[in-house]
Amino acid sequence: MITVDCDTEGLARAAVSALPLYAPDVTPCAVDVSDNINLWGTPPAALRALSGAPSTHPSRYPSLYSTPLRDAVLRYVGLSGVSGVGVVTGCGSDDVLDATMRAFGNARDEIVFAAPTFAMIPIFGRLNGMVPVSLAMTEGFDADPQQLVDRRARITYLCTPNNPTSTALSRETVEYVAANAAGLVIIDEAYAEFSPHTFIELASTHERVLVTRTFSKAFGLAGLRVGYGVGSEAVVNVVARARGPFKVNALAEAAALAALGEGPDALGWVARHAALAVRHRERLAAELRARGLEPMPSAANFLFIPTPRAPALARALRDRGVLVRALSGLPRDLAVLEASEGHALRIGVGPWDVMETVLRSLDEALACA
Ligand code: PMP
Repeated sequence: MITVDCDTEGLARAAVSALPLYAPDVTPCAVDVSDNINLWGTPPAALRALSGAPSTHPSRYPSLYSTPLRDAVLRYVGLSGVSGVGVVTGCGSDDVLDATMRAFGNARDEIVFAAPTFAMIPIFGRLNGMVPVSLAMTEGFDADPQQLVDRRARITYLCTPNNPTSTALSRETVEYVAANAAGLVIIDEAYAEFSPHTFIELASTHERVLVTRTFSKAFGLAGLRVGYGVGSEAVVNVVARARGPFKVNALAEAAALAALGEGPDALGWVARHAALAVRHRERLAAELRARGLEPMPSAANFLFIPTPRAPALARALRDRGVLVRALSGLPRDLAVLEASEGHALRIGVGPWDVMETVLRSLDEALACA
């Protein structure tokens, strides 16, 4: 039994003390479409690498900075052999984002973004001593490039397709910010595989751009925690130093490497299921519109549905064994979110039989909630 005779909480850094634990609704449900993962599962080649894993010995440390995986990632994104371009990996892209802020943000430097966006960004910002600055999105769910640039922040964060809104930023906005921001520009492409557009090429043309991506979504490896950033060698080397060694464990690296392999059960599997997710996304959006809901145009593997009924619908769905993400307190400077009183649902897209279960429960929820 530990006797409580001192204020240990008071000993913590103020930025940490002020933070609650990340606690989304994780009620176990038969159908969980709440966190945008690959609902078809994991590429067979990655599963084989995990079960066989002949070259991974748990008694040994993994590679220091995931050199084999970095090379494979560069080939995957089509930038292999492009001089001056590098990759930094991490324990999920969360880790890459966190390390990037630690690497570039001095105490009280600003990180600017258009809200709503990925919820961890202001949290990592504060934890790293930075000041998060949230700007309004435009009515078309784009960011205002001039406002972002005018802030002259140490780091500008763009997320496209954006979580939670599912919408993509315009090419003009991203290119303008990449070319004109005063500091580092992070382009978070966690959902790139579901989008018709990527900005990966900016990582090879702008020295201060870092494009981050993940194996948690299209690649079906969320549980293994692997992410990466692509950028100039100057940027990725600084992030790698702040990140530290041994962040991608040996099994995760083996699985990610296998998933990047040629062949129908590796990259072919990933591409096929990403294409299916896009088809099912459009079909689900039509079904939702037929029920009077209005999902935003999505470029990701999930739908964002502003509605004042979101909290009640999410509860009614959960009672029926379907977990979706209910978002509240969204910025109400956007007309759509003012009309929804700052509430929205976020629903991940997957196999059609799963979507049918969601729709059946939704019909009941709409009738009662
Ligand atoms: N960026 C965005 C936009 C996300 O939605 C997520 C996961 N929800 C991440 C980064 C982090 O993903 P991971 O750490 O699993 O790579």
